[in-house]
Amino acid sequence: MEKLRFNVAHLLTLPVGATRNFKIQGERLLIDEMASTAGPVQGTVRLLRTKVGILASVELKAAMPYQCSRCAEDFIASATASFEEEFMPTVDVVTGYPVGEVAEDEALRIDANHVLDLSELARQYIALALPMQPLCQPDCAGLCERCGHNLNRGLCQCGPQEPGTPWQALKIILERS
Ligand SMILES: [Zn+2]
Ligand SMILES: [Zn+2]
Repeated sequence: MEKLRFNVAHLLTLPVGATRNFKIQGERLLIDEMASTAGPVQGTVRLLRTKVGILASVELKAAMPYQCSRCAEDFIASATASFEEEFMPTVDVVTGYPVGEVAEDEALRIDANHVLDLSELARQYIALALPMQPLCQPDCAGLCERCGHNLNRGLCQCGPQEPGTPWQALKIILERS
């Protein structure tokens, strides 16, 4: 198995407390209708056999495409997410019969082939980790309010930007007096 899917048939036969560690070398992941990761999802996962299933402790990193909220430039930066979730089997690994109680959340069900799939959780947690107002750089200079020039590329012909109100208003008052 590879990528974000792991066959846990063997681990399910081991006693509670048994663990397995894996490297995640995923594929590009669709995050929502608008965006997918700019590169493969990478990270680590530790799978721990619990009484009812398997606890996955996951660290993820993926390059994401962003648009700067200040200057509207496209850029790529990495997003990270870490989470712990408990997966539950849908089929008894020894008898092969369906188990009585399955996980309410479909994303947390180990399928009938004993495959634990992290894709849906990875998608959800990376989506949560994305900034609401991404910046191409912490001190992005933004666009000139008058001509729209990207001020990260140097000044435009409009001259220095006047600060907005209320200081602008105060300055006018002070200049009049
Ligand atoms: Zn910017
Ligand atoms: Zn300008």
